Amino acid sequence: MQLFKTFFVTILCLAILAGCSTSEGIKVSNVDEFNAAVKQAQPGDVIVLAAGVWNNAELKFTAHGTAEQPVKLTVEKKGAVTLEGQSRINLSGEYLIVEGLVFKNGYSPTSEVISFKKKKGVYANNSRVTECVIDNYNGPERFETNTWIAIYGKNNRVDHCYLVDKRNIGVTMTVRMVDELCRENNHRIDHNYFGYRQNLGANGGETLRLGTSHYSLSTCGTTVENNYFEYCDGEHEIISNKSCGNKFLNNTFMECRGTLTYRHGNDNVAEGNVFLGNGKEHTGGIRIINKRNKAINNYFADLTGYRFRGALVIMNGVPNSAINRYHQVDGGVFTNNTFVNCDHVQLCAGSDDERSAIPINSLIENNVFLHEGRDDIFTIYDDISGIEFKNNFVANNIITNKLAVTKVNLAAVKNENGIYQIKGDGLNGAGSSVTKAPANADNTGVNWYSKELRNRDFGTGKQIVVKPGLNTLQEAYSQSASGDVLVLSEAGDYAMEKKFEISHPISIVSAEGIDKPRLLSSKQEMFTIQNGGSLQLKGVEINGEMSPDLTGNCIVSTSHYSMNCNYKLFVEDCDVKNLDVNKFFDFLRSYKSTHADTVMIKDCAFDNLTGHVLRLDNETDDRGIFNAEYVILENSTFKNVEGTVLDLYRGGTDESTFGPTLKVNACQLVNVGNGKRNKENGSMMIHGVQVCHINNTSFEESKPLNLYLTNGEPITKITDCDFNKSSIVFNNKEFEVENVTIDGVKKNLRQL
Ligand code: CA
Repeated sequence: MQLFKTFFVTILCLAILAGCSTSEGIKVSNVDEFNAAVKQAQPGDVIVLAAGVWNNAELKFTAHGTAEQPVKLTVEKKGAVTLEGQSRINLSGEYLIVEGLVFKNGYSPTSEVISFKKKKGVYANNSRVTECVIDNYNGPERFETNTWIAIYGKNNRVDHCYLVDKRNIGVTMTVRMVDELCRENNHRIDHNYFGYRQNLGANGGETLRLGTSHYSLSTCGTTVENNYFEYCDGEHEIISNKSCGNKFLNNTFMECRGTLTYRHGNDNVAEGNVFLGNGKEHTGGIRIINKRNKAINNYFADLTGYRFRGALVIMNGVPNSAINRYHQVDGGVFTNNTFVNCDHVQLCAGSDDERSAIPINSLIENNVFLHEGRDDIFTIYDDISGIEFKNNFVANNIITNKLAVTKVNLAAVKNENGIYQIKGDGLNGAGSSVTKAPANADNTGVNWYSKELRNRDFGTGKQIVVKPGLNTLQEAYSQSASGDVLVLSEAGDYAMEKKFEISHPISIVSAEGIDKPRLLSSKQEMFTIQNGGSLQLKGVEINGEMSPDLTGNCIVSTSHYSMNCNYKLFVEDCDVKNLDVNKFFDFLRSYKSTHADTVMIKDCAFDNLTGHVLRLDNETDDRGIFNAEYVILENSTFKNVEGTVLDLYRGGTDESTFGPTLKVNACQLVNVGNGKRNKENGSMMIHGVQVCHINNTSFEESKPLNLYLTNGEPITKITDCDFNKSSIVFNNKEFEVENVTIDGVKKNLRQL
């Protein structure tokens, strides 16, 4: 047999000429050689991709191995074979192994990079994808859907992969259940490292999804275990479970925004998982919907998320729900979980006129809740009589209202693995037995690929000194790298007569102790933030007097095209003036399919603009997409602005996003919004913002603060504000107002 095989391989080698068999396998150097090797492949064959860059390689790996002798595709040297451009791979057949592929510097033009499917109805079974890397393999269009790994068929395994920096809409990894050949699939997804995924600012940023609502009452039967999820911030479903009979075992969620969500489907179990929030905003645990879903022996620590991102969220359902809405929680079981310093446990979450079906036949038993900094962790939105509480313990300080739980003295002490161990009398075996995070950066993914983050933050690079003059700033920028600081060493004019396009994070900062240097430009846009760019301006004067007399100038623009990388704009200690050489001179103008992580204006003085200060209102399709996650206005004055200080728009009723969040503190608006070209009835137009806090701010002789609060349960607080010849317009929903003065009349109103 062995003799035959050697003979066969020799013939094969001759037959395909270029491909060459070695003791390690059949080495191939291009797609034609690969195809020839695949065509001849027999059980036990190993096909080896030669080291180097494989550009635009569409690998169709169709073969039939056996359990004892699979057909394997591997690489000459791990890390030395990269698939770039428009490369992808499709597996079909039986008993295949794919190992060591790295996808980077490109994207798949079809929707799946690694697919266990050749075509509809033709899948791979009993196959394995192991030690593969997909790194920032994203198309330029932010909202063109793309999936990195799609698992079809049955009995497949994806393990030890490293998936990092997904930026486009679309799940990172998914189990598809499109027909019978893909259900009751017994797949295993284990020991993968799901790395950083930026906030998408829209629905469709899930890291892992099992099934879809359409087939959600069918059994999927996939096991997801020992995976490490790190900074997976795409949207509020880190994992979206949309099928029945899945297991989530011993996974670690490190500072991920969102929850493991039992969105659709029944009879799923989560056991031994560890959720570590470290106090990061919007970090959550498990969200429960549907029948007989379980959470057993999980550990939750330092999670801050509220509402649908709570540490434990048990939802209300919709009576006779459509398959894509919310089925009632029935038979839920939540036992032996430990919650330490988690801010929110939400019962009957989402209760409203539509979601009126309360949880029934459910059990919460042997859990422990402790919070060292907060008393008020339980929120009960509706009738909890369908949930039985047995043998649950809470720390003495926790407010329990009508919950049938036992108050005891509890203390949390971190062990050598950083896991809180709970000390207390009479706990009786309640709580989680977890003593360490089961999965981490070292025991998941691959050990031969760099995990260093590429895009550096402001001020983390070197300093470059810049002198006044013409285009000196652009020249300095052209020498800079990510995170560098351009230090303007002298007062004077820094004039720009060329386009200034920013493609990496850069700071432009005045030296200490000098008068504010002046930035001027003869271009319509002083700065254009391109994909990958971010801008910090500090201690400078920004003056519009050299700008051209053209309609539609601005100081900062985003790319006019889609940006798949979020950006930041920080403006600190700056004077912005004379943006009035023409009509509609804005400060920041954003475009569709762009998203700011943060736009911050701090300690600044704006005077004399014919346009708007911040235009973040270009996602008008009402699909829950918006232009900025955080907008922060702090200790700044805005005078004689013909347009608005802020246009921030999020439309639609989707509930998948965290933001936008707006914080305004200690600002002064004088004569804002009164220009005849300002068609908005407002000095600030705030639409669909999820968290809005405006504090200690005055509006004088300005158009109203205009709030239109749409979906979800937006938090809106207007405190210590003064309106003089100005007002507030509330369009709907509830909000809080405290210590607000309108034309000299003090108003303390709640729920107007
Ligand atoms: Ca979603």
